[in-house]
Amino acid sequence: MYRDNTKVIHIGDRVIGGGNPILIQSMTNVPTQDVEAVVKQILALEKAGCEIIRCTVPDEEAAKAIPEIKKQIHIPLVADIHFDYKMAITSIENGADKIRINPGNIGGEEKLRAVTDTAKAANIPIRVGVNSGSLERNIVERDGGVTAAGIVESALDKVHMIEKAGYDNMVISIKSSDVMMCVRAHELLAEELDRLGTRYPLHVGITESGTVRSGNIKSSIGLGLILDKGIGDTIRVSLTGDPVEEIVSAKLILRTLGLRKGGIEVVSCPTCGRTKIDLIGLATKVEDMVQGMPLDIKVAVMGCAVNGPGEAKEADIGIAGGNGEGLIIKKGEIIKKVPEQRLLEELKAELDNWNG
Ligand code: SF4
Repeated sequence: MYRDNTKVIHIGDRVIGGGNPILIQSMTNVPTQDVEAVVKQILALEKAGCEIIRCTVPDEEAAKAIPEIKKQIHIPLVADIHFDYKMAITSIENGADKIRINPGNIGGEEKLRAVTDTAKAANIPIRVGVNSGSLERNIVERDGGVTAAGIVESALDKVHMIEKAGYDNMVISIKSSDVMMCVRAHELLAEELDRLGTRYPLHVGITESGTVRSGNIKSSIGLGLILDKGIGDTIRVSLTGDPVEEIVSAKLILRTLGLRKGGIEVVSCPTCGRTKIDLIGLATKVEDMVQGMPLDIKVAVMGCAVNGPGEAKEADIGIAGGNGEGLIIKKGEIIKKVPEQRLLEELKAELDNWNG
């Protein structure tokens, strides 16, 4: 698989590439210079399971905030730079663990070399990439529109610019809001990098994927297909919504693909005419409650006493709803019958004192 043999890259105290676990990223959506707000958001993201955070650095004030932010967080910080090479240099000098730049819009070869020299001195990686929306006009016109091959060509141009500036501590990302084009582009890029003998790690995400509902579906399909082909060293689920949702979804995608262990998997029935308790509400509360619990088990939340117990037996622990009450089933055995209002707290008590 491509990811088994990618170049090993250090981002702060995390390591990606070379078959290391796929790490989950997100991006803050509050002004970077507002240290208090940005730290609050990053700490919430860390708690949810975010492993690398990216912050935009549009000006001097934002770049100056980096040391103060870094003091208060526990995951590597990536500075996102557009156009101004000075912001890239200041961000590195202020402790950014990685920078993301577009070598094509940083102001020419000399300025690019100033950035790569600073990154080299600090020994931090540079992420380069292409977004289908900002693909060079000559490529788009030549191909009669945005294509997977065009995205890859543009990305490799950027990679070669950094290599030409004498640096190869790099992560590549290519993005397209067209899910299937994005999948094809990743396959092509992996093939091409393999052929060139420069297997840089890839950061994978589906861009502009939309609100929580459509973004989750597009990202699950896109990331699912790409990751299952053995491509992708870090991921981001981009959602128009609370970034914490991105982490919850990213973890679920990795778990579903068998690429990450740990955490509680909640299964629940779709409800039907037999359901006599508020199962939708209960399942939602259970899903929220188990986030971050340090167990690797399956919890079933089933709606009725007819099929529920049988299905709950498949899980490590489960609830089977009855009429205003429910059964708690552990390892296939009914251990308790409790009123509906107490089902959640009884389940929590079992999980808090889990002994397998
Ligand atoms: S477990 Fe019971 S309530 Fe849920 S869908 Fe199956 S039959 Fe219906």
